[in-house]
Amino acid sequence: MIEQRSDEAFHEPRALWPFVKRIFTYAMRYRGWFLPFSVGIVLVAIIEAVMPLVWLEYIDTAITPLVREYKDAIASGLTPEIEWDLLIKYGLIYLGLSVVQIAATGVFIYYAGKIEEHVVRDLRMDLFEKYQRLSFSFYDRSAIGWLISRITSDTDRVTDLISWGFLSLIWGVIMIITCLIVMTLYSIQLTMIILFTIPALLLFSVKLRMLVLKYSREARRIRSEMTAVFAEHVNGVEVNKTTAQEESALGTFSSYSTRMRKASFLSSFYSATYTPLVVMVGSVAAALVIYWGGHMTLEVSTGITLGVLAAFFGYARIIYDPILDITRYYAMAQSNLSAGERIFSLLDEKIEVYDRDGVSDYEPIRGDIEFDDVHFHYVEDKPIMQGLNLKINAGESVALVGPSGEGKSTFTSIISRFYEPTAGALKIDGHDYKNRTLESLRKQLGIILQTPHMFSGTIAENILYGNRAASREEIAQVLHLIGAPEMIDRLDEPVGEEGSTLSMGEKQLISFARVILKDPKILIMDEATSSVDTLAEARIQKGVEQLIKNRTSIIIAHRLSTIRNCDRILVIRKGDVIEDGNHDALIAEKGHYYELYTRQAR
Ligand code: ADP
Repeated sequence: MIEQRSDEAFHEPRALWPFVKRIFTYAMRYRGWFLPFSVGIVLVAIIEAVMPLVWLEYIDTAITPLVREYKDAIASGLTPEIEWDLLIKYGLIYLGLSVVQIAATGVFIYYAGKIEEHVVRDLRMDLFEKYQRLSFSFYDRSAIGWLISRITSDTDRVTDLISWGFLSLIWGVIMIITCLIVMTLYSIQLTMIILFTIPALLLFSVKLRMLVLKYSREARRIRSEMTAVFAEHVNGVEVNKTTAQEESALGTFSSYSTRMRKASFLSSFYSATYTPLVVMVGSVAAALVIYWGGHMTLEVSTGITLGVLAAFFGYARIIYDPILDITRYYAMAQSNLSAGERIFSLLDEKIEVYDRDGVSDYEPIRGDIEFDDVHFHYVEDKPIMQGLNLKINAGESVALVGPSGEGKSTFTSIISRFYEPTAGALKIDGHDYKNRTLESLRKQLGIILQTPHMFSGTIAENILYGNRAASREEIAQVLHLIGAPEMIDRLDEPVGEEGSTLSMGEKQLISFARVILKDPKILIMDEATSSVDTLAEARIQKGVEQLIKNRTSIIIAHRLSTIRNCDRILVIRKGDVIEDGNHDALIAEKGHYYELYTRQAR
C-alpha cells in the first residue's frame, strides 16, 4: 500500500521565515506596485497616528485661549469678538488630512487587490503546470480532491498573507512607531500609563490566537478531508447506489460534517471573544488616563494641558488596534504556513520521469521495442518485474493476456514511459528511451485506455485532441475507416462532462479516431470490449483492425476471442512472460493460454 499524501504531514510547527521569504519572492515580481501600495498605507497610518494632535493643538491653541478671552471680555462688560478664522483653520486641517487619508486608502486597496490577484494567478499557474508534468507515481500518492484544494483554497490563503495581511503588518508597525514617538514627546508618564496595560493584552491575545489557530487548523484539515470524501463519493455515486452503500456514505460524510461544525464553532467563538477583550483593556487604559491625566492637568506644574489630556485619551483608544493587527498577522502567517508548506512541497515535488541533460529527440521511429533486463517495482521491496527480457518487432501486434494483477498494465505503463524501469533498459528502435526526450517518444505513441477520457467540448474537439491540425474531411475519413460514419453528422454535439452523453462504445470509437489522426508508430491499448455490448463490440473490432495496421500494437486483452489474429500472444504471470506465440501455436501447446481460452469459450 502506497502511503497517501495527507494534511497530517504538514501540521508540525515549522519555521516561518523561509516560508515568508519564499512567498514574498512571488510578490517581488510586482515590486513596482509595492511602492504606491506602501506609500498609501504609510500615509494612512501616519495620519491616523497624528489625528489626536490636531485635537491637542485645537484645544490648546484655539479653544482654550478663545474661551479665556471670551470670559475676560464678558467679565469686563465688553462684547466679545470671536476669531472665527482659527476655528476654520482647524476645521480645514482636519478635513484636509481626512481627504488625504481617504485617497491613500483608495490607493493601497487598489494595489493590494492587484498584487493579490496576480500572485494568486501565478501560484495557480505554477501548480497547474507542475500537476501536468508530474509523473504517474506522484498521482498514486495523491488524492485528486486533495490536489484540488491546494490549487483553490491554499493559494488564496497564502496570497492573503502578502496582500491584506502584509498591509495590516505595515500599518500596525508604522502606527505604533508614530504613536509612541508623539506620545513620549508630550508626556513620558502618561505614555507609561497606557503601555502598562499592554502586557496583559499581549498575554490574552497570544493565548486566544493560539486557540483560534488550533481550531481553525482542525476545521481546515477536516474540510480538506471532507472535500476528498465528497469528490470520491460523488464520482462513485453509481457504485454506492448499486452496492446499497448510500447510507454508509451518508454516515461517513455526516461524521465529517459534525466534526467540522464543532471545530468551526470553537474557532469562531474564540475569535469573537477577541474584540470585547480588546475594548475592555482599551477602556482600562482610557480610565487610567482620565484619572491620572486629570490629576496631572490640575497640577499645572506637570505641563499637561487640556489638549494633551484629550490627545492621550485618544491614544489610549487607538494604540491597541495596531498591536492587534500585528498579532493577527503573526497568527495568520502561522495558520497559512501549512497552506504554503503544502503548495511549496508540491512545487518542489521531484518529477520522476523527466528528460536527462543532453538527451536528443527520437527520429521518426520504426517501432521496435525491447525490454532489456528490466526490473521494476512501485513500492520498495515489492518487485513486479525482475529482469525481464523481451523483443517486440516493429509492426507486430502483440496481445498481453493473463489474470488481473499479474502486471499487464505495468508492461504498457513502462513502454509508455509513465514509469521507467528501476533497473535495466527499455529500448525503442535500439535506444534506451532515457537517452531520448519524452516528448519525441510520446508524439509517436498512441494510447487507448479502457475508459477513454473525454474533455468537455464537442465530439469533433475531442477527436482533434489526437491532432489539432486535422481537417473536417480527415475526421470524416477516419470515422468511415473505423466504421462509425454516423458520427460524422454529430461532430458538433457536446459530449457533456466526462462524455456523459456518450455510450462507452462511442467513447471508444472517438478515442480510436483520435489515435488514427495522430498516426503513432506504437499503439498501446487496454482493450475495452468487456464493457460494451456485442453489436458495439463487432464495430469496435473493425475499428481495432484499422487501428493496428502498420504499427507496433500492444493490446491488453480481456476477451480472448478478439485477439486471435494478433501476431503474438504473451501470457503474463508475475511480471514475466511465460508463454509467447500465436493463437494456433499456443493452443497446440496446451498450456496456460489453452486453459484460459477454453475456459472463456465455455
Ligand atoms: P494487470 O494489468 O495484469 O491487472 P497491473 O500491472 O495493474 O496488473 O498490476 C501488477 C501489480 O502491481 C499488482 O499487484 C498491482 O496491485 C500492483 N500495482 C499496479 N499499479 C500500482 C501502483 N500504481 N502502485 C502500487 N502498486 C501497483
